Amino acid sequence: MPTTLIHAKRALTPSGEIADAGILMRDGVIELIGPREGMNVPEDAAEISATDKSAIPGFVDVHIHGAGGRDVMEGTPEALSTVARAVARHGTTSFVATTVTASADDICRSCEGIAKYVATQYEPHEPRAEVLGIHFEGPFLSEIRRGVHPAEWLRLPSAELLARFVAAAGGNSRILTLAPELLGAMPCIDAAIKAGMVVAIGHTDATYEQARAAIAHGARHAVHVYNAMRPFSHRDSGVIGAILTTPNVTAELIADGVHVEEAAMRLLLQAKSADCVILVSDGVSATGMPDGKYMLGQFEVTVTGGVCRNSEGKLAGSTLTLDKALRNVMALGKSFEDTTRMLTLNPAALLGVEFKKGALRVGADADVVLLDEAMQISGVWTRGVAVN
Ligand SMILES: [Zn+2]
Repeated sequence: MPTTLIHAKRALTPSGEIADAGILMRDGVIELIGPREGMNVPEDAAEISATDKSAIPGFVDVHIHGAGGRDVMEGTPEALSTVARAVARHGTTSFVATTVTASADDICRSCEGIAKYVATQYEPHEPRAEVLGIHFEGPFLSEIRRGVHPAEWLRLPSAELLARFVAAAGGNSRILTLAPELLGAMPCIDAAIKAGMVVAIGHTDATYEQARAAIAHGARHAVHVYNAMRPFSHRDSGVIGAILTTPNVTAELIADGVHVEEAAMRLLLQAKSADCVILVSDGVSATGMPDGKYMLGQFEVTVTGGVCRNSEGKLAGSTLTLDKALRNVMALGKSFEDTTRMLTLNPAALLGVEFKKGALRVGADADVVLLDEAMQISGVWTRGVAVN
């Protein structure tokens, strides 16, 4: 693999911005990062002059179902590598493959496929995002806040059923989303934490107290805040009240301007500190594809004008890409540094992989995005390999 030096106008690192930066990538990792001037560059390194561009870490998407016409629940190497290549073009260099509610057998089959793919996904010279594991979105969700998750396969939280999923995922279980008000939620949270997973609150009708109880029990993340949640009211602030007022609980936001209106996005961005917001795509297979009919898990969705809905007209994930999420949140007045953090370091830290992903630092994977002045992508590297 070629050794590459990126010479950028600036680079964002966990310890601040480096002006006129050099990033040396060798064997898929960042070997050196610092001011370009005076940097000790090996003779065989190919230098890329990008002195009018900003370098940031590749995006880490903890909530994505598919892209490029394929869904992660297909579980095949073709489907997963298609998703991994499609999102890399938009700056996502790693992601957590997110399942939707289906029969236990189907979820297990998908997980086995994803696990097999994860074990063999690395191909030198092949630019694609890395699958970091599995996010289980369902089946332990609220019937009345299920969104497009099929009602027939919803289940009460069950540590036994979770154990089946964890076994099928073969060490790749990362996030469990559940509705904490359901009977059996607390033992299921315990089991998930014991299995090393992040427990997330979502698709829930929980009251403030129920959500607080789940947080006290170890839930520390909330999926697509506002969407598929008991609505906020000033006398019944509910799960949204609990998430917005509890520091350290990370909050996902789908910043496409369709899922959450602007004032509500601003409210979330003001209530949560910059290190507790995580921008996600909730992207479905239609991402990067023309309008039309697509599959999400096992049900059909229709995309019109880039907005994805099921046959009842309910929003069914998005076609948002994370480069667009970055521009949308910056347009609300958030700084470049904070917005970048919400797409990189925060999700990596949620997963406990912040020394490998989501940060430009020595020893981390060489996942790098170059942006022009308008925050449009002008280059992406996945583990040191350029995406064209
Ligand atoms: Zn959802």
